[in-house]
Amino acid sequence: MQAYLDAIQDGASGADIAALPVPTSYRAATVHKDEVGMFEGVASSEKDPRKSLHVEEVATPELAPDEVYVALMASSINFNTVWTSIFEPLPTFGFLSRLGRESTYAARHDLPYHVIGSDGAGVVVGVGAAVRSWKPGDRVVIHCNSVDDQDPTAHDDSMLAANQRIWGFETNFGGLADLTVVKANQLMPKPAHLTWEESAVNALCSSTSYRMLVSRNGAGMKQGDVVLIWGATGGIGGYAVQYVLNGGGIPVGVVSSPERAQLLRDMGCEAVIDRAANGYRFWKDEHTQDEAEWRRLGKDIRGLVGVDPDIVFEHPGRSTMGASVFVAKRGGLIMTCAATSGYMIEYDNRHLWMKLKTIKASHFANYSEAWAANQLLSQGRIQPLLSETHPLDDVGEAALAVHQNRTEGKVGVLCLAPEKGLGIDDPARREEIGEDTITLYQRHAAGGASPGGGA
Ligand code: NDP
Repeated sequence: MQAYLDAIQDGASGADIAALPVPTSYRAATVHKDEVGMFEGVASSEKDPRKSLHVEEVATPELAPDEVYVALMASSINFNTVWTSIFEPLPTFGFLSRLGRESTYAARHDLPYHVIGSDGAGVVVGVGAAVRSWKPGDRVVIHCNSVDDQDPTAHDDSMLAANQRIWGFETNFGGLADLTVVKANQLMPKPAHLTWEESAVNALCSSTSYRMLVSRNGAGMKQGDVVLIWGATGGIGGYAVQYVLNGGGIPVGVVSSPERAQLLRDMGCEAVIDRAANGYRFWKDEHTQDEAEWRRLGKDIRGLVGVDPDIVFEHPGRSTMGASVFVAKRGGLIMTCAATSGYMIEYDNRHLWMKLKTIKASHFANYSEAWAANQLLSQGRIQPLLSETHPLDDVGEAALAVHQNRTEGKVGVLCLAPEKGLGIDDPARREEIGEDTITLYQRHAAGGASPGGGA
């Protein structure tokens, strides 16, 4: 891999990069099949990714004709990194063995280890014989929607494909590694004004929020819409705030500390709710929700923006869904893509049907949506939410921090990149967009964001 790194840093030509021998093994973050029972009897919050995640050499898989090798400079921690590493809600090895039965090439994925990670930025170093749009030397980011283009169900909206999978979660050879194998139709151009680690953290979360809010497959948000956003400085929430602001909507951001409330204001979100300070108790006990508390949240939202939300950006799941359904306006939309706090959801259906509300599900994004989200990043209209960066060897520590809700925005991981700050190809564009605007979350994490100044 060192030869790839040297070539990338020396600005070697695509032909020179293509001529380098593909290494027989590479460094990767993995979980092991024979360890899936290691947390039996341990409470979810106590399951420690540092125990289950390994960083080790793994064999380089063969390349299928429609695939590319990408030398990864950086990657990111996603919440699915946490799910995989604590083996919840299911160990991911079941996904790999099901995939393995599909074809000869698919069989490569069914291994006793799982290379995880669903984001990446790097350089194409090899292409299969059927690849037309990309070549060695291309600087790329990778989106995580892995679909089989020979499947007819993949050709209206590929997220509806019967065999749609999330790369590095439901497939092997993920992005928390020095090398990856992905389908050519997962590639997108790297935003030229961003560093490797700033480029690597966006595709999964930003595309998810784009589909949920902007795409006609999601809410199709319009100007003036009020959008309640849970976890508004988190991975998907922080992009959601930006999409709402860009689209002329009014975000109401919910966070859990004064620091996060300040960060939201620095992003330009004026209506902010600190759920910890307000002490909402939507559940009286494990089995009973408290409508008075839903009502209190609704009142707080009206106090800030005068009306009930047109759209609720919902992902905490069991903790908040009852409240989300309640506070949405008559005819409003609850967009859900996750259930961090529990997937067996309860809400009062009377509030849904009597007020003609809709619950709509979303999951990642199709290629066209991911591409559109990436374009907005490249244009500087959406900012990367990188807050901190860890070396690949510390992947367990980084996943633990996300698991414990200790981080804002996105956590980057350096793979081949030897240090932070590399990979900017268009410094003039960066200056035009503004260093402070691009690095708001990084400055905030370092304690350096000036109050009131931001994106
Ligand atoms: P993060 O950890 O970055 O952010 C989530 C935020 O949600 C937290 O920062 C926290 O903010 C808030 N939150 C967590 N628990 C609760 C709770 N019980 N009640 C209210 N708020 C809560 O995660 P991501 O944004 O990356 O992901 C969020 C969820 O979405 C995860 O479950 C993830 O797996 C899922 N996801 C799904 C995708 C899909 O395609 N379907 C794609 C991406 C993510 P605060 O404490 O400040 O309120």
